[in-house]
Amino acid sequence: MRTPIIAGNWKLNKNPQETTEFVNAVKNELPKNTDVETLICAPAVDLPALIEAAKGSELHVGAENCYFEDEGAYTGETSPKVLNEMGIDYVIIGHSERRGYFHETDKDINKKAKAIFANNMKPILCCGESLETREAGKAEEFVEGQIKADLEGLSADQVSNMVIAYEPIWAIGTGKTATADQAEEMCAAIRKTVADLYDETVADKVRIQYGGSVKPANVKEIMSKENIDGGLIGGAALQPDSFLQLAHYK
Ligand code: PGA
Repeated sequence: MRTPIIAGNWKLNKNPQETTEFVNAVKNELPKNTDVETLICAPAVDLPALIEAAKGSELHVGAENCYFEDEGAYTGETSPKVLNEMGIDYVIIGHSERRGYFHETDKDINKKAKAIFANNMKPILCCGESLETREAGKAEEFVEGQIKADLEGLSADQVSNMVIAYEPIWAIGTGKTATADQAEEMCAAIRKTVADLYDETVADKVRIQYGGSVKPANVKEIMSKENIDGGLIGGAALQPDSFLQLAHYK
């Protein structure tokens, strides 16, 4: 009953013209939204082109980040209020690249989640452990801690409607995918954490993606797992043919 969601995370790739070309190449061949939801999250400067090109198609549009204040003296930041006014549906928060390179804390991420909901959009909350943490046998404990801190103060209704992406840092852009069983194990643990924090109804509704070297060759096996409702995909979502194969994994 959870609609799968296949999302591209373009990171710092593509300009507005390339964005338009990509969307034009995929937009008439996407699955129906009710079957598989598709989404591209693009750099802020590409969003007007993405929104314009995706108009009237099944493709949802997302941002890769935003700030937690709507306006004010915050040089260089992106307003969630303006993202909503532009027509953005989803915003990625807590990606390991932002936690790592830009020192974002769980507190910041929690504030961003609240700001995104306050502006009628949905967060895609990323979580995931480093190789060191996994090898120390502390992966589940670590991810559980992130989820608890990042969801603090969100309502049951909000959590039911958001997306959580489990992205082990050691699998991002490395070609090293977590095995489908490893991904399923952690996604099940995340769902259990949500059930403990809220209840079974919320845990049944929240969609959980796996991310980290997902590609056309492994998407079907990953998506066959009970607790995995989608993919957050970097490298393999940059080319139209590859994105279409991912979107049509069924
Ligand atoms: P990747 O990136 O698919 O290139 O591993 C995933 C992500 O960072 O969201």
